[in-house]
Amino acid sequence: MSRRLLIAHACRILGARGLAEDVLGHVSLRTGPDRLLVRCRGPQEEGLLFTRPDDVREVDLDGSGADLGDWAVPNELPIHAEVLRARPDVDAVVHCHPPSVLLAGLEGVPLRPVFGAYSIPAARLALEGVPVYPRSVLVRRPELGREVAAALGDKSVLVMRGHGITAVGSGEHAVEQAVGRALALDVLARVSVESARLGGRAPELTPEDVAELPDLGGAFNDVMLFRHHLARLRHEGLLLAE
Ligand SMILES: [Zn+2]
Repeated sequence: MSRRLLIAHACRILGARGLAEDVLGHVSLRTGPDRLLVRCRGPQEEGLLFTRPDDVREVDLDGSGADLGDWAVPNELPIHAEVLRARPDVDAVVHCHPPSVLLAGLEGVPLRPVFGAYSIPAARLALEGVPVYPRSVLVRRPELGREVAAALGDKSVLVMRGHGITAVGSGEHAVEQAVGRALALDVLARVSVESARLGGRAPELTPEDVAELPDLGGAFNDVMLFRHHLARLRHEGLLLAE
């Protein structure tokens, strides 16, 4: 799969799984020290769920580049650019607006480690602690992007209160990893919101049980999960041809 097709499918997965309201959200992949492929908006924009490989353009971290053509970079390109600047270990950035995370953030629902093998990636996010960027601003200036990157720190996901999330990935399967982390954060937030609705009495995991929640590795967590979501796109008639 080409990198543009991979990013287009990543966007479609986020849209299909309800992590983005209509047209808002984007995925990027580092292609060089100062360059990235990023989901842009073209003249025929139809929303994240219907992203095409043509919507993925290669630009500099400042948002310029000959590849842009009739497309415009996202208003919130500084999220991608400043996270990539601040984190040399990061290769892919996902930004989207999952309603579950929005509700948890607005209502101050804690993302506690109350479940385990139900979803180990989501449980690990809860155990590690999910940082919060407290401002609900549109991140359209580099200064705000730097605030987001600082709030993310060395973590893999960030709740942007009143706004959405940022998730990052590294290495050969960076896009798959970032999407997997976004999906895991959505699982954690959905369970947390529903649990709070039921009274929020769930006890936290014991250290003995935490010790039995292994990291099953990127091939299991990221690549297989992504393949599953590609199959769901195919089932829904949303998979793009090579
Ligand atoms: Zn946003």
